[in-house]
Amino acid sequence: MLITNIILGELYTNCYLVSNKSECIIIDPGAEPKKIIEFLHSKKLTPKLIISTHYHADHIGGVKKLVEKFDVDFALGKNDLDYLNNQPAWVSNLITSYEKPESPDILLSDEEKINIIGLEIKIIATPGHSPGSICIYIEDNLFTGDTLFRNGIGRGDLPGGDINQEILSIKKKIFTLPDNVNVFPGHGESTKIKNEKNNNIYLA
Ligand SMILES: [Zn+2]
Repeated sequence: MLITNIILGELYTNCYLVSNKSECIIIDPGAEPKKIIEFLHSKKLTPKLIISTHYHADHIGGVKKLVEKFDVDFALGKNDLDYLNNQPAWVSNLITSYEKPESPDILLSDEEKINIIGLEIKIIATPGHSPGSICIYIEDNLFTGDTLFRNGIGRGDLPGGDINQEILSIKKKIFTLPDNVNVFPGHGESTKIKNEKNNNIYLA
């Protein structure tokens, strides 16, 4: 299994490609789908699933083009479905390559497991940054979207957001995972659970 980070769009969203041999899943293709398509072609990778950690434009902006190009399913946390059409306009306007995706093919629930490309993917619902925010747990790696950053947390003031719920989600659902788990956030540098438990000033 290999993790590749491609930074996309005006908000520098971390898009992650998790690949196993010639197949991959795409996490948070937030903008600039052409950049992703070029990378997939250059590495001869076939995408088998797109998962967005939440509904915000900078995490879904490239989904439409990828679905059209590869006929791949798009998965989103089930409690974000209603918010796809309630996009804060200032975010979608910021992302020049943003295109509204079709409705998700798969709605993800807490504790759901998906077996795909030879990997077991576990979904952990972490509401707060948005109602349907999820973390994606694959082996020793956790993709946290905008719920948890290196020494930061996502804002709670966008539609459906709740900062207290977000902090609770982090403490109950993320900080209970093993210390050595790698954290790959939606923006900024990667980190480890242990570092955030010890150093994240928003969670002291
Ligand atoms: Zn967000």
